[in-house]
Amino acid sequence: MKVINISEIFEVPNINAKDADLKKIIYKIPDLMLINNNYFPGSEYLCVCSGGTTSSCAKENLITLDLRKNYNYIKYNPQKKIVKIGGGVLMGSLLDELEKHGRIFPTGLSSLPGVGFILTGGISPLSRRYGLAIDNIDSVKGYLGNGEYFAISKKEIKKEEIDLWEAIKGAAPFLSIITEIGLKTFESSPILICEGFVDDNEFKEIITLAEMFPPNQSLQWMHSERKYIYIVCELKTAKDKIHNENLLNKIKGFKALKHKILKSFNQAIFFPKELKLFELNQTNHSEVISLLGCSIENRIYEFTKLMEDINENRPNKSCYVACQQLGSSTNLKKNYEDYFIHRDSVWKPWIYTSWKKNDLKDKELAINWLIKSWIKLKNFFPHIHLAQLHNHLDFHREEIELAFGKKLNKLKLLKNIYDPMGNLPPL
Ligand SMILES: Cc1cc2nc3c(=O)[nH]c(=O)nc-3n(C[C@H](O)[C@H](O)[C@H](O)COP(=O)(O)OP(=O)(O)OC[C@H]3O[C@@H](n4cnc5c(N)ncnc54)[C@H](O)[C@@H]3O)c2cc1C
Repeated sequence: MKVINISEIFEVPNINAKDADLKKIIYKIPDLMLINNNYFPGSEYLCVCSGGTTSSCAKENLITLDLRKNYNYIKYNPQKKIVKIGGGVLMGSLLDELEKHGRIFPTGLSSLPGVGFILTGGISPLSRRYGLAIDNIDSVKGYLGNGEYFAISKKEIKKEEIDLWEAIKGAAPFLSIITEIGLKTFESSPILICEGFVDDNEFKEIITLAEMFPPNQSLQWMHSERKYIYIVCELKTAKDKIHNENLLNKIKGFKALKHKILKSFNQAIFFPKELKLFELNQTNHSEVISLLGCSIENRIYEFTKLMEDINENRPNKSCYVACQQLGSSTNLKKNYEDYFIHRDSVWKPWIYTSWKKNDLKDKELAINWLIKSWIKLKNFFPHIHLAQLHNHLDFHREEIELAFGKKLNKLKLLKNIYDPMGNLPPL
């Protein structure tokens, strides 16, 4: 079969994926079934693309199922306040559609990710109030790795569907191709943003303060040459107003912080462009690893010293560590279980490393820095948020274990049933 140069026909934000020479692109599930006698590809592992923001949506000499063309519908039901979206919808498009109805969904820090954001947990600056994205799934439709169609609705769930329903929430990419998700939406409210560069003392102070934030507030930060913070505060209730005034009072001494009020969450643009946090440099390849851990509490001095050390050892200026806050609502037990098992987590730092593409030495340095920084941070954040799949890297197995812990064996059993041929990413 002719090898196609992916970059000619396949536009995705992730540069590693964009540069990969894939074997074939297909756009519909029936096309997939035609490849191998009415069945999924069999011994070949299939890449699924929704937002195309990760390196796993397209790989050398593998087939990619691109859901963006045929599974990109968004249908809002104003009576039920539920939105149904196709498996290839971007989070930015979802927010834009919901804005027309005065509603929001707790999406993450960028409009670029697709449904992979939801299926892998989905941590939003509003998660402390509204939970993770998976906590707001109302229904799912799709195909299992064995080619079987399925549809599950939370309200009409059958006993025999419970295991799959739970696994879809946090581990769907290993078992299924999701073609539609129904999501609970929330009334839109104004948002107070406080953002800017902070000095060392302010950085320590804001992390300590954030660990006592009420559910309507969350802190995001970025640590590289300088430290930048981005606080999101919803303004929905009278109590929120008091909480926000209290916060503004506590941080009024922070010299470089700016405040603004946005009409809705949809207007938030997280972190200024000059920080290049989400800029995917065309000449570079990159990897990201996401960690999870509990409160830093009285170890803040030890933590900030560690962050300085990680920063000093960066192999180049594109590399950084940034962090999202979760907790509050994400800590609560839900009616059904799921595969986001580290529910006691409060912080999700992610380590971003990047190198000049095709420069193997540069890549080695960058990946080594990522691994060394991860080892250092494990002391504070021992778990993994499996937002990116790294089955092409040596530490994939460790990441899987740290993401699913005691539930990994059950997940492997489910994979044997639902994806016995290993059509979907391996565990
Ligand atoms: C700029 C940026 C900001 C981010 N911010 C946040 C954040 O605030 N919070 C957070 O939690 N995460 C965040 N992430 C991480 C992101 O949500 C995950 O990496 C997510 O998996 C990306 O999904 P995607 O659809 O864009 O990626 P893709 O590369 O298209 O998909 C990644 C993998 O997910 C699986 N997948 C995707 N769609 C489906 C489907 N319909 N059915 C079955 N499997 C599927 C496939 O295995 C696929 O290969 C961010 C990522 C980026 C690039």
